[in-house]
Amino acid sequence: MTDITITPQALRARLRLEALSGVAWLPTTAVPKTAESLPMTLAEWAQTAAACRACRLCEGRRTVVFGEGDATARLMFVGEGPGAEEDLQGRPFVGPAGALLTKMIQALKLTREQVYIANTVKCRPPNNRPPQPDELAACRRYLDAQLALIRPRVVCALGRTAANALLNTDAPLGALRGRPHTVGAGAHPPAGRLRPRPHGGERALEHRAAVGGPARATAYRRGDPGDRHLSSGPSPAASRGQTRRLGRPATTVSVSARGHPMSPRFGSAPRGDGLDVPSVDVGPPSRPARGPAGPHSLARFVEVALDLPTAGALSYRIPPTLQGRVVIGQRVQVPLRNRTMIGCVVGLSQKPAFPRVKPIQRVLDDQPVLTPDLVQLSDWMARTYCAGRGEALAAMLPGPLRRGRPLTPTADTPVPPTGTAEAPAPAPTLTAQQAAAVARIREALDAGRHEVFLLHGVTNSGKTEVYLRVIQQVLAQGRDSIVLVPEIALTPQTIERFTHRLGAAQVAVLHSRLTERQRLSEWSRLAQGRAHVVIGARSAVFAPVRRLGLVVVDEEQESTYKQEETPRYHARDTAVERARTAGAAVILGSATPSLEAYTRAQDGRYTRLTLTERIDRQPLPAVEIVDLRRLAGRGTRAVLSPQLETALGRTLADQQQAILFLNRRGFATFIQCHGCGAVVRCPTCRVTLTFHQASGLLLCHHCRHREPAPELCPACHGHYVRFRGAGTQRVESELARRFPTARIARMDTDTMRPRASHETVLSRFRRHELDVLIGTQMVAKGHDFPQVTLIGIINADTALHLPDFRAGERTFDLLTQVAGRAGRGTAPGRVIIQTALPDHPAIVHASRHDYEGFAREELQHRRALHLPPVAALARLTVRAKREERAKTAAETLAAQLQRVRRPAAMVLGPSPAHLYRLRGFYRWHLIVSAKTLDALLARLAPIRRLRHAGGALITIDVDPWNPW
Ligand code: ADP
Ligand code: ZN
Repeated sequence: MTDITITPQALRARLRLEALSGVAWLPTTAVPKTAESLPMTLAEWAQTAAACRACRLCEGRRTVVFGEGDATARLMFVGEGPGAEEDLQGRPFVGPAGALLTKMIQALKLTREQVYIANTVKCRPPNNRPPQPDELAACRRYLDAQLALIRPRVVCALGRTAANALLNTDAPLGALRGRPHTVGAGAHPPAGRLRPRPHGGERALEHRAAVGGPARATAYRRGDPGDRHLSSGPSPAASRGQTRRLGRPATTVSVSARGHPMSPRFGSAPRGDGLDVPSVDVGPPSRPARGPAGPHSLARFVEVALDLPTAGALSYRIPPTLQGRVVIGQRVQVPLRNRTMIGCVVGLSQKPAFPRVKPIQRVLDDQPVLTPDLVQLSDWMARTYCAGRGEALAAMLPGPLRRGRPLTPTADTPVPPTGTAEAPAPAPTLTAQQAAAVARIREALDAGRHEVFLLHGVTNSGKTEVYLRVIQQVLAQGRDSIVLVPEIALTPQTIERFTHRLGAAQVAVLHSRLTERQRLSEWSRLAQGRAHVVIGARSAVFAPVRRLGLVVVDEEQESTYKQEETPRYHARDTAVERARTAGAAVILGSATPSLEAYTRAQDGRYTRLTLTERIDRQPLPAVEIVDLRRLAGRGTRAVLSPQLETALGRTLADQQQAILFLNRRGFATFIQCHGCGAVVRCPTCRVTLTFHQASGLLLCHHCRHREPAPELCPACHGHYVRFRGAGTQRVESELARRFPTARIARMDTDTMRPRASHETVLSRFRRHELDVLIGTQMVAKGHDFPQVTLIGIINADTALHLPDFRAGERTFDLLTQVAGRAGRGTAPGRVIIQTALPDHPAIVHASRHDYEGFAREELQHRRALHLPPVAALARLTVRAKREERAKTAAETLAAQLQRVRRPAAMVLGPSPAHLYRLRGFYRWHLIVSAKTLDALLARLAPIRRLRHAGGALITIDVDPWNPW
């Protein structure tokens, strides 16, 4: 940790003090956490502050002004207290003083959202008089809590009251400015004593906190915004504490004179200046945050979010009988027109949004069902995914709670123990790479810092072991962990691995196969703090844990993390946002990171950690590519190449197992040249053109390009064939014909209706009661079968021809995953990929286990076509029962979006959706793309609440993963 002193000379010489007048920079090193602040989040403190009646200031105020800004900010401003304007708006520094502060922040090349702004008192003193000592003391806990939770690197006190409060002194501003101080902001009750100390020819103050290590600070001069209402009121009674001299040599902060006249650069300066300093970066550690809105005490009105597309919340009155019982995060029953609805309280206020509001009818919960950070997250979700706030909140709740059932602390309905209960495996000694990753993540945990780690580890490199170790650390800190895994990987084996290591009592499980009772029981175990780790699929990102310390997103590249109904959130990004507001760490694990995560790691937004070696240094399996075009002689319906057939024969003879994998999506119909494997693509979008039987035309579903189906391939003059992809059934029958004695099972969505049969097949295969497993995606991921030595991929191309810009990425991922199933035991693995496109980058790079090569090439392509992650995309689908209506509505919508010029965005279409007719609807879609998500959302703003127009239904999908 770094101590920083700012000498007044240095500042005067290198900063324009006039502009930054009168502020005190108080660099804090380690603001100790107060014991009291630990169990509560910032939002919970805001709520507590709203209910505060501790001093006479509470009487006259209109609102409570709690701090706001980035909860992970490194720079925090502390002012005296709210003035008239602040009191009106319920936000700090929004009046004239706020304008000055904003200028200051801008001068630092930051925005208000990137710093945190708080006050020493949260209520407005009458007539702008300074707060009295007892008022300051009463309010101190809120400031301390904010300091302790945010733990800024630098605190800037605005004016004398704030500086004195932070330093526990009572000194005139002149004595504080330009001098080093130590800050013990976490000391509670205030403890410390001033002692002047010569420094740089001027006198300085020092102070040692009663709790935690010392930090030093400095103040400098001139009347600041808050200074104007300063009077020489009685001094705060500072209690006496330990004092000691700072024996260390003073280090200095240098401020660059270059660039922006007011942009201080906290970095090394040439020695000639006598300034030699460690660097302190006060810039934003992450994206801008939205601080907790200041709620209001003894509120008479509430904002209730209902499960409706309306973006905002509705105002209701709190009847006298319910006064004081309503809290943010509770469910309430409210009237809406002539029915009643259940909604969630998202805000409290003294003033209604409009004059005559109806009263709420009933409060459903004593304790809020949703934690404050979830309520805050719903706002982000609603904005980012163009959903209603209430829709976002509803998605967070289990069905029964959504429907109004009480969350009673009933006896647990435990999830039955799954599978075979083996003896708890002892934790293995970590490999060097695992240990390095754990240590690096631990740094963030120990610092209580939000940081996102991309754990890029090849298959079988021990990523799960890393999660387990980190979760143990988080548990030791008394914090909670959320582990998200793709639904398909939520097998009893996965769950057991966690319960064995962490103890079943600690671990809750949330997935779609639980009964409602089980789900509710697991939910309440988490909400009541009886379980501290949750493993679940996508929606477990909303688990009601109180003290989030870590979120793991395993296989973060999986498309199942995207929710395909409103709110159409992506669980990875939602997890990162939730962790950001909670100050928690995130581990995104993958063998083939999504290009989104990969580019964010390259930009430095995520920290990349790599595991390049498999456990026990098993080599990655050898991959062989078989060119399907050479198979033509064997008849077009052949599915096994001679190479694959021979390899299978040998595997069976050696008593080993094989998996045959088929990458099939039923409904895509494309045409492919039988001679050279070429597929007809759109000249502009490059997506595969879809063949429409009725018209005989090829259609681009992205941009509406159309052309007649060609007779002959322009490249090789071969004939085209329509291609639907071979089914698992055909593979099974061909296999049975060639190997009559082999024990074969087929696993795909068609054969696997009841989930249990899925497990049965897998466990029989694991016990080697089966020799060959044939299947689709569901055999590809996560399973660990040590006796599998051969993997055959029947046709690697099928997914490549889907009209989906992620087709290449998904294929690369699948092939890598499938290949990762081979050679997990002692015998080396072998992978055979059958393809008609042996030169396709996804196939070539996958066969070489070359992620980097693939990512580089694919990103070039995305850049050229303005596709994510280089651009932000939204897909608007318009559907109607009447064909003409859908088309007209889509065209109107497109025209409406085109009319706006700014911010720059591209509107493509409308074009018929890939699934043009679905459940009786005709469907059209358009694609909107912009450089950034913000620009995209701004462009969508006028229509974000639109759910129907011109007799057609509209859905907006931001960051679409489903091209259909
Ligand atoms: P990944 O999640 O990267 O596929 P896992 O964490 O599942 O990898 O590890 C693969 C296998 O290696 C598992 O059976 C696991 O128990 C084992 N394993 C993980 N780490 C170690 C280690 N440090 N020493 C020995 N075995 C390990
Ligand atoms: Zn096109």
